[in-house]
Amino acid sequence: MPRVHLLATGGTIASREGPDGLAARTPAAELLAATRPPAGLTVTTSDLGTVGSFALTTGDLRGLVAEARRRLDEGADGVVVTQGTDTMEESVYLADLVHDDPRPIVFTGAQRPFDDPAPDGPANLAAALRVASSPAARDLGALLCFDGLAFAARGVRKVDTLRSGAFGAPGRGPVLRVAGDSVLPLGRPVRSSPLPLDLRTELPRVDVVACYLGTDASLLRAAVAAGAAGIVLQAFGAGNVPPPIAEAAEELVAGGIPVLVCSRVTSGPVLPLYAAGGARLARGGAVFAGDLSPWQGRLLLAAALAVAPDDPQALLARYLAD
Ligand code: ASP
Repeated sequence: MPRVHLLATGGTIASREGPDGLAARTPAAELLAATRPPAGLTVTTSDLGTVGSFALTTGDLRGLVAEARRRLDEGADGVVVTQGTDTMEESVYLADLVHDDPRPIVFTGAQRPFDDPAPDGPANLAAALRVASSPAARDLGALLCFDGLAFAARGVRKVDTLRSGAFGAPGRGPVLRVAGDSVLPLGRPVRSSPLPLDLRTELPRVDVVACYLGTDASLLRAAVAAGAAGIVLQAFGAGNVPPPIAEAAEELVAGGIPVLVCSRVTSGPVLPLYAAGGARLARGGAVFAGDLSPWQGRLLLAAALAVAPDDPQALLARYLAD
């Protein structure tokens, strides 16, 4: 009989209304009791915490991914993690960066709280348990299952603040669909080889610097002064930045601080096209992150700095080329 482990961390799926607003306080066993798992599936449960995902740190995230992997090592056929949707795209991506197992780790949550008159959590949890125990989910890495669809880690984003279809993978699409008792394959994700990241070690600080009309380099320099070992630029369009940012980025790369270029646009890759914009960044040694979001790019750059401190750029180039 297949067995899936349910690891709960909090989020809206576990939240109830209180005097100050919503607060996550429903444990895994209660989440499971409120849903209808697939027939014949054994589900074990444990709790890692009851927090909003907006309060998680990268240290918490390393602990969460390590715990999910430990549950696979113990013999579960798959793991489902419940957490808040706000940072779920980061959690699933870190889990995927190190995932070297055919069995899936599936993240899910909810847009409406546990005590809502029409909660979406129970259906999302039932679908995630079904995906986690399905042969169709093997070898797809870490997945995010929401509103009847499962997305590969790379490229998945929260695309709506409130609607139940909270996630999308713009330009990529879902990889699985849950239809009744079936899990239908829709596509195979592009996955690079897992990174040998030691989850017990702190990740180097990497900051995301946003570009907006007329940005100067003050925040970029402040990030470095605060200890950033790498910078992600949330650039305009296909990877352009204002001249002061381009100039500062050149200096950083020359000084050994890698710069990764992502876009503030939700769909499509960045490319070094414009002489005074993206092409200038590329000439200065910045790395272009394809269609990776700044938030996922930040984790990739931090992991590259941790795994290959002598040449993170080479690791990034290899990882992003796959
Ligand atoms: N809106 C969030 C959620 O869906 C809150 C959080 O990230 O915990 O759970």
